[in-house]
Amino acid sequence: MRVLAIAAAALLLLNNGFNAGNAQAQVTALTNAMLIDGTGAAPQSGATIVMHGGRIAAIGRDVKLPAGATIIDLAGKYVVPGIINGHGHVGPAPHERQVRQYALYGVTTTTSMASDPDAIAEYKARTRAGDIRGARVLTTLYRFTTMLAPGAGYDYRTPEAARGKVDEIAAKGADVLKVWIDPQGGKVPRLSRDMVAAIVDQGRKHNLITGAHIVELADADMAIDEGVRILLHNVRDREVGNDFIARLKDRNITVISTLAREEGMFAYGNEGPGFTDNPFFTKSVAPERLTVLTGKIRESQATMPGRERAIRAFETDKKNLKKMVDAGVRAGFGTDSGGDPNRFFVQGFFEHRQMELMVQAGLTPMQVIQAFSRNNAEAYGIQNDYGTLALGKAADLLVLTRNPLDDILNMRTLEAVYIGGRKFD
Ligand SMILES: [Zn+2]
Repeated sequence: MRVLAIAAAALLLLNNGFNAGNAQAQVTALTNAMLIDGTGAAPQSGATIVMHGGRIAAIGRDVKLPAGATIIDLAGKYVVPGIINGHGHVGPAPHERQVRQYALYGVTTTTSMASDPDAIAEYKARTRAGDIRGARVLTTLYRFTTMLAPGAGYDYRTPEAARGKVDEIAAKGADVLKVWIDPQGGKVPRLSRDMVAAIVDQGRKHNLITGAHIVELADADMAIDEGVRILLHNVRDREVGNDFIARLKDRNITVISTLAREEGMFAYGNEGPGFTDNPFFTKSVAPERLTVLTGKIRESQATMPGRERAIRAFETDKKNLKKMVDAGVRAGFGTDSGGDPNRFFVQGFFEHRQMELMVQAGLTPMQVIQAFSRNNAEAYGIQNDYGTLALGKAADLLVLTRNPLDDILNMRTLEAVYIGGRKFD
């Protein structure tokens, strides 16, 4: 794997006519920043961050500036980790605009949680080689679901067949497995316990963890029993009790509440969600699509039969999130943004909306920042390279002009996004 990546990097450098020596030598130092590193530690004033070879080469207050470094003075500004989106979707193809949109909103890593085209694997290889065109991607490549494709059944119906598919996607470079356990109020069969058990177990053989899409507490319980490590949505059918919360903690489960998605299921209706005329939203929504959201979708969400249920699910998600975080459960961060272009969850903007809603649910801005950095990195097992801002880790970080700890909306005062130590624009 490693040899391949290096060979690919060399090839890319040749193809693009870059000089590998110069690229290696490029050193950038951000100085005088107020540093919020993602660990939950108090912000550190007067911080310097030296970025070299895509990583953080030095960080802190007493850092000697390397000779020849490009120095960027961030006096009066804030540095936070890049956003890791623990539940997103890149796809369907083409992916270029989508990964770029994520990155422009400060999402430096996103997951892609459905079935991806092979182009995503190629994109990931290029990104690893330093050719950064947008957010880094962690992908499932294929999700195990009982959702019926039009005119067809679902793909894998026996544990043996599912194990074979796990072997196949592991070989193709899947980063995480996903099981989709959702009877949709009886409209589709529920993915069985045997299937979940087989997928989780086969994943372990490839060192892959499994995350679960769930709605109901009973399904979350079953998934955790069978070794699922991440809940990719919060429990939304009822308020969780202390016994369930204790199990989440005992087993070190990460819960990703997708409040922005829950809101997006109903809030375009009636008066609207309050952001459809916000430039931070409209800048990435095509005018035709905006017309649909504020017209057809607004009408359908106002009158849809499941409206009350959707509102209740949103409120339940908020309550459960607050309860879990207060009890010490690891809250991840995700939105369910992207996916089918007819969905309502806008990549990039929805990550910022999610932050706002988590604060509305009762979390502090610091807890939100930890959720999208440290907690998500730990959840996905990438904490040695990503997540918090520390020596040796990837230089994926954001420069803000205002303090996000004063108001999480200040995460929108993005002045620069660095991915692998380079400014993304
Ligand atoms: Zn999803």
